[in-house]
Formats: sequence, structure tokens, C-alpha cells
Amino acid sequence: MEIGKYSLGIGDRFGHQGKAQLQAILNAKAAGIDVTPVWNKSNREHSYIHSKPEDTRIEADAAVKALAYTGPYFVDADHINLSNVQGFLSSSNFFTLDVANKIGTPSSEADINAFVASCAKYSGKLTIPGITHPFEVDETLLKKIAGKFLAAIHEAGNIYNFIKEKKGAAGFVTEVSMDEVESPQTPVEMFFILKMIAGQHIPAQTIAPKFTGRFNKGVDYVGDISQFAREFEEDVLVIDYAVKEFGLPRNLKLSVHSGSDKFSIYPVMANILKKYDKGIHVKTAGTTWLEEVIGLALAGGKALEMAKKIYKEGLTRQDELCAPYADVIDIKQDLLPSAAEVDGWDSTKFANTLRHIPGQKDYNPSFRQLIHVGYKIAAEQGEEYTDLLKQHHTVVGSCVEENLFDRHLKRLFNL
Ligand SMILES: [Zn+2]
Repeated sequence: MEIGKYSLGIGDRFGHQGKAQLQAILNAKAAGIDVTPVWNKSNREHSYIHSKPEDTRIEADAAVKALAYTGPYFVDADHINLSNVQGFLSSSNFFTLDVANKIGTPSSEADINAFVASCAKYSGKLTIPGITHPFEVDETLLKKIAGKFLAAIHEAGNIYNFIKEKKGAAGFVTEVSMDEVESPQTPVEMFFILKMIAGQHIPAQTIAPKFTGRFNKGVDYVGDISQFAREFEEDVLVIDYAVKEFGLPRNLKLSVHSGSDKFSIYPVMANILKKYDKGIHVKTAGTTWLEEVIGLALAGGKALEMAKKIYKEGLTRQDELCAPYADVIDIKQDLLPSAAEVDGWDSTKFANTLRHIPGQKDYNPSFRQLIHVGYKIAAEQGEEYTDLLKQHHTVVGSCVEENLFDRHLKRLFNL
């Protein structure tokens, strides 16, 4: 089972926007670019919403049927590990093996020495085709990289083998993710991580490193764009070389867990991918949930009240809502409007404050991030929330579609 050259992770918290999301993919196809949709949902999200992995599969299949879509599509068990993969086995055909929490777990001296010995040919000046400066590789560096990553990739091998035993090697696409950590992996670390992945016989088709800069949820990239560009380009070249050196799948590509809306680096990525004719997977998951709130706000009446309620309750429960996302949000307290202020807003004001249009004067990234982590509140409203989604599916769906196509796909693929 192979993932296409370009693919987009389009998770959907409440599972109501599959059709609108797929329509955005079809709009891209009409504009000349084939993008494979991947519905991704993590165990954490399922547990907050009380949904099950099967629900994502049902949603994806229903959207595909409704729009008579005939292309490939995937359901991604996002950020799974051995403790929770079981529940995803029957419904998923894409597995993101998350080994971030094993980074730094010590390996035995024998394992480290064996790995270092296997890298002898790369000692000295390691030249990666396309990268002008050679990397200095010596035993100290190799030992350090092995000490940091060997156990994590060994764990990825364990998870992969578990899934393979149940589904067969041809039954799924494998991603290895290490993005939810504090420090980015350097391109030279990436090279040796890929060697470890090959050593574990994991046919990874996508790899998600932690990139430099902040990838806050639902808002633009914060960091040095030229440094990001340099690292991204080097990662692309490292993968290209590693595929040939280590016999990894030829379609192996980067997976960017974007946290959505990294508009300022989308064109940077697009240019580099075009330059080397390479593929990419981008996860945008949380965006759709925000578009639901925007759509409800635009619908007015009770739906606008619901949107306001989600924000106002979020305001009083910030500690609880933000804790699981502490590393990937950056909310400025003094920029959060008060409950009384939001009470006075009309549909347009609410939608413009939440919608991410760079340069729009009402757009407020702190407001947006707080609602981003507030989906638990919507989940608690149960059918009251989902009934409003059903009642206003036209306006909500058009927000979801427009966002994915106009703001994401067009920027990512230069459409
Ligand atoms: Zn991630």
C-alpha cells in the first residue's frame, strides 16, 4: 500500500465534515494537483471527544461514497504507540508510530557499539549530494546520536511488527513521528535515524521530525523562516540520499505536523519541493474544528450563542484546556477579549476574530488558540452541539471547504 506523492492530513474532531474536506481535495484536483486525503485522529482526541477509531473510518467511507470519489484515501491512527494501537487496527490503514517519548531512553552499550560500527563508512566528512557543506562525523557524534535515538527507533520497530503481524505488511502505510519533543532533530541526526529505521526493517513512507521554530496550534509559524528553509531543504536531500543508501521505500517523504495554518512557510516548502520534485505529507487537523465554530457564528441565533459559549467557558477553564497543549500554544492573556465584550459581538465580528486571514484587522491569534484547545467544551455539549452542525451544515461545510482549499491547498501547492 503506497501513499501518493502529495497528501494532506485532514483530521476532523467531530466527524461531520468529511464531505466538505473531500470537496476541497477535489477542488485541488480540478486545479491540476492530485492530493491524497488522510483522515487522521489521535488517541488523545478520541478520548476527549469519546469517539472511536471506527468513527473516523465510517466518516471517510461515507464522504468518499457521497462524492463518488475514486482515488486513494487513508485513515491515520495518529500518534499511536504499543499501549493504544490495538483499537485502531481494524479501521486504520495508515499508522503514525509515535516514539517521541522514547527519545533519550538509554540503549545497551552493545547495541550502541554495533550501530556505531555499522556507520564506519560515514565517518569523517559525510557529503550528502546537494548539500554544499559536508557534515563532520566521528565516533563521539555517532555515540551521541545512537544514545539518543536507538531505543526510540527500536520501539518503532516493535510497534511496526505488532501492526504487521495483525494486518500484513501490505495492509498499511507507516509513518514514524518524533515531532512532539522540545528540540528539533538536525539533518545529520535525521540521516542516522533513517539508517536505524532501515535497520529495524520499517518500510516508512513518511517521517515527521521536529522542525526548528514554533508550530503553535492553528496559527502561523513563529521562527526564523530562512533557517527553517535551510533545514527543510537539507532534510529533503538527506531523505533522498538515505533512500538510496539504506534501501528505504522510494516514496519516503517528509510529514509536517503543522498544527495547521503555517501560511508563511507553505510557499517556502512549495518551492523546495518543486525544486527537487519531491512529495510531502502535511497534517492540518485542527483547522476544521475552528471552521465549524466560524460557521456556527455566521449562522447566527442559537448557533452564534453556542460559539460564544465555547469561548466564554474556555476563558474560565484555560488551565485545564491548555495543559495538554502547553508546548504548542502561545496565548497572550491581555489580548483575550472579556466574556462581556464577546457577548456584544455579532456574527461577522466573531467570525473575523476567529478566522485566520493574515492582515484582517479583527483577527486575534490568542482568541483563535484558546478556541482551538476548547473542543472538549463542544464535546461536552453533546447533541446540542452536533445538532447545530447538522442544522447549519451548508454554511459550516462551505467554511471548511474554503479554508482547506483557499488557505491551505492553494498556498501549499502554488495553485
Ligand atoms: Zn504530531
